[in-house]
Amino acid sequence: MIADVTASLGTDYYLMDELLTDEEREVRDRVRDFADREVIPVINEFWQKEEMPLELFYKIGDLGIVGGSIEGYGCPGLSLVATGLSAVELSRGDGSLNTLLGVHSGLGMGSIYICGSEEQRQRWLPAMARMEKIGAFGLTEAKHGSDSVMLETTCRRDGDEYVINGEKRWIGAGTFADVVVVWARDVEDMQVKGLVVEKNEDGSYPEGYEATPIKGKMGKRAVWQADIKFTDVRVPAENKLENANSFKDTSKVLTATRAGVAWEAIGHAIASYEAALQYAQQRVQFGKPIAGFQLIQNKLANMLAEITNMQLMVYRLSKLQEQGKMTGGMASLAKMNNAKKAKQVCSDARDIMGGNGVLLEYQVARHLSDMEIVYTYEGTDTVQSLIVGREITGVNAFA
Ligand SMILES: Cc1cc2nc3c(=O)[nH]c(=O)nc-3n(C[C@H](O)[C@H](O)[C@H](O)COP(=O)(O)OP(=O)(O)OC[C@H]3O[C@@H](n4cnc5c(N)ncnc54)[C@H](O)[C@@H]3O)c2cc1C
Repeated sequence: MIADVTASLGTDYYLMDELLTDEEREVRDRVRDFADREVIPVINEFWQKEEMPLELFYKIGDLGIVGGSIEGYGCPGLSLVATGLSAVELSRGDGSLNTLLGVHSGLGMGSIYICGSEEQRQRWLPAMARMEKIGAFGLTEAKHGSDSVMLETTCRRDGDEYVINGEKRWIGAGTFADVVVVWARDVEDMQVKGLVVEKNEDGSYPEGYEATPIKGKMGKRAVWQADIKFTDVRVPAENKLENANSFKDTSKVLTATRAGVAWEAIGHAIASYEAALQYAQQRVQFGKPIAGFQLIQNKLANMLAEITNMQLMVYRLSKLQEQGKMTGGMASLAKMNNAKKAKQVCSDARDIMGGNGVLLEYQVARHLSDMEIVYTYEGTDTVQSLIVGREITGVNAFA
C-alpha cells in the first residue's frame, strides 16, 4: 500500500520521528526551539565579527543536554540518539555553538568520564555539567595533526606534580576554558598521558600557560581556537587522568566523539536544504518559480536523499554504540560519509540560491563554510577513510 502525500514531510522524509522515544522528541524540540528563537536571529553578526556568543553558550546549560549520555555526576544520561539530535538541532542553528559544546561536553567531559577515576569524575563533572567550569581538549600540535599519535608535548613527574612542556594548536576554548585536558608524552615511558590543567582560584592560568586565539578562519567563526604554549606548567599529580595511559585511551575518546560529529553534519545540511527549498519555491526565473524546473527538483531530491541516508546511518550507529558493538571504523565511516555529503548538500543549496547564496543573510553561506571545518576536524576525510581501510583490509596504510 502506498501512502497519500498529505503534508510536507520536511527533512524527516522516512518518518524517523516514529522511531524516537518521547524523551528524544522532547530534547530535539527543546534545542530546536532554542536555535530558532535565540540563535538564528543573532548569530550572523557574531560569525561575521569573529566573536563568541558566550551568553548564548551559557544558556545551553538550561537545555538539559550538557554531559549528553553520561549518567550520574549531574549529567542528563540521555540516549545517544537524543544527544545526536541535540547536535543536529544546535548546528542547524549555528555550528560554532555546537562546536563549543562538543569541545566542552563531548571531548572535555568525555575524556574525564572515559579516562578518569571515580574520584576525578566526581571532582570535575558535576561543575562542568552545570557549566560552572568549561572544558577543552588539547591534542593537536602544529607539527602533528593527522599523526597526533606522534605528539611531542612532554610531561615529567616531579614529586607530587607533573611538569608540562610543549605547544598545542587549534584548541577550542583554549583561551578561556577552566579545565583543559592536555595529551602529553611522558618522558618516563614515552607513552601518551592525559592531564588536566586547571585555572587557579583567581581565574588565571597556571604560570607558563600562554594561549593565543587563532583568528581569520573561513568557518565556525563564532568559536575561537587557540595556540597554547606550555612552559614548565605544573599540575598536581592527581590531575593525571587515571586511565589515560597510552594513545589507545585518547582514541577511545575520539571514536566516541566522531560519531557526534557525524550527527552534527546533518544539522548543517538540513539548514541549507530548507533554505534552498524555500528559496526555490519563491524565486521566479523564466516566468515561473525555479522549483518547477526539472534540474532544480533533481538537485533537491538528491539533497534530500543524502540527508535521509545520513539520518539512517547515525541512528543505527548510535544504537550499535549503545550496545557496545560500534568499532572505530564504524564511527569513522559515518564521520567520513556525513561530512562529505553534508558539505555537498550545503554547496548545492548555495548554487540553487544563485548570487544570494553567497550572502550571510541567506544563511547557507555560513553553513557551507562551517562544513569545511567539520570535514577536517576530529580527523580529516582522508584519515577516516584510512581507519575504515585498515579495518576492512587488515593493512595499516597510515605511514
Ligand atoms: C576549527 C578547528 C577546530 C579544531 N579543534 C580542535 C580541538 O579543540 N582540539 C584539538 O586537539 N584539535 C582540534 N582541531 C585540529 C584538527 O583535528 C586537525 O586540524 C585535523 O586533525 C587535521 O590535522 P592538520 O590540520 O594538522 O592537517 P594535516 O594532518 O597536516 O593534514 C593535511 C592533509 O594531509 C592529509 N593526510 C595526512 N596524513 C595522511 C596520510 N597518511 N595519507 C593521506 N593523506 C594524509 C590530510 O587528510 C589533509 O588533507 C581543530 C581544527 C580546526 C580547523
